[in-house]
Amino acid sequence: MPTLSLVAPFLNEQESVTDFARFTKRLGCDIKKRFNLDLEVVLVDDGSTDDSVVRYRNALEGNWRIVELSRNFGKEIALFSGIEESKGDFVLMVDADLQHTFSVCMELINELLADDELDVVYSVRADRLEESRSKAVFSKLFYRLINAGQRFTIPENAGDFRIMRREAAEALRTIRDKRRFNKGLYAWMGFRQKGILYTPSPRTSGSTKWSKMGLAALSLEGITSFSAVPLRIMSVIGVIIGLLGVMYGAEIVVKGLIFDTDVPGYPSLMASISVLGGFNLALLGLLGEYIWVTIGEVKDRPLYIVRRIHRSGGKPQ
Ligand code: UDP
Ligand code: MG
Repeated sequence: MPTLSLVAPFLNEQESVTDFARFTKRLGCDIKKRFNLDLEVVLVDDGSTDDSVVRYRNALEGNWRIVELSRNFGKEIALFSGIEESKGDFVLMVDADLQHTFSVCMELINELLADDELDVVYSVRADRLEESRSKAVFSKLFYRLINAGQRFTIPENAGDFRIMRREAAEALRTIRDKRRFNKGLYAWMGFRQKGILYTPSPRTSGSTKWSKMGLAALSLEGITSFSAVPLRIMSVIGVIIGLLGVMYGAEIVVKGLIFDTDVPGYPSLMASISVLGGFNLALLGLLGEYIWVTIGEVKDRPLYIVRRIHRSGGKPQ
């Protein structure tokens, strides 16, 4: 019988363990009835410091594994290790905090199974469409920038909550980027993908692990690992300012030599120094970001380290 792997990373989600176990049980029953699928649950402990692992081990039923990472590696990498551990013919990725509702999970599975031509069905957050205007403008700009001149398009508001066929999951496994901007990687790998709209339910327990700074860092990571557009913009600005400088210089020479007028020195000097200095520093910082990404890739450390794997009906290995 074909198997569905449910992959979920967690970090300190002890409050939602029982609900999650109930969720997996219900999913296991329903997919067997509706789609004739077996369920395999692969959880990834992303360096939890509470007793989530023990609770999951006690609460989970059926066929499950918990990959315990040696420390916190971040959701992107935790998900990746879960995909590597999964063996199912289909891989469904959800958050352990149950914000991804049961009905949408069923819808994702249904959409993929209904169409042989589809490899991936991803979810698109509908609630983002109604977010504040400034946020929406920022988000539009971000996607414009990151998608500029690419041969693939990263869809807006499409996250990790998706289902893939084994072939797509295997393709994802071959991407060894150390800095993982998942949204970009999903788009980069191609395949036939389809999006469906959903609204996540509010968190019932615990708190979000994302800070504003964390989100900003992720956006920057996305840009620096997928786009050279900011560098090009800076180069163009550099060229324009350089040309303006040449023109201004020519004007001064003409004024001074031919018309013999005094050129005000200090203000023009200050203006050009601060403009050029500012842009220089900004470009250096930007270059530094790209170099930092490069250093991370060159070091070629493993993406994650597993401390141990817990299995249903067995001792930890
Ligand atoms: N998570 C993780 N590692 C992290 C941060 C988060 O495994 O470093 C998990 C977290 O436990 C949850 C999922 O990733 O299951 C989504 O995180 P969260 O709910 O904080 O994000 P949000 O839903 O607010 O975007
Ligand atoms: Mg959440």
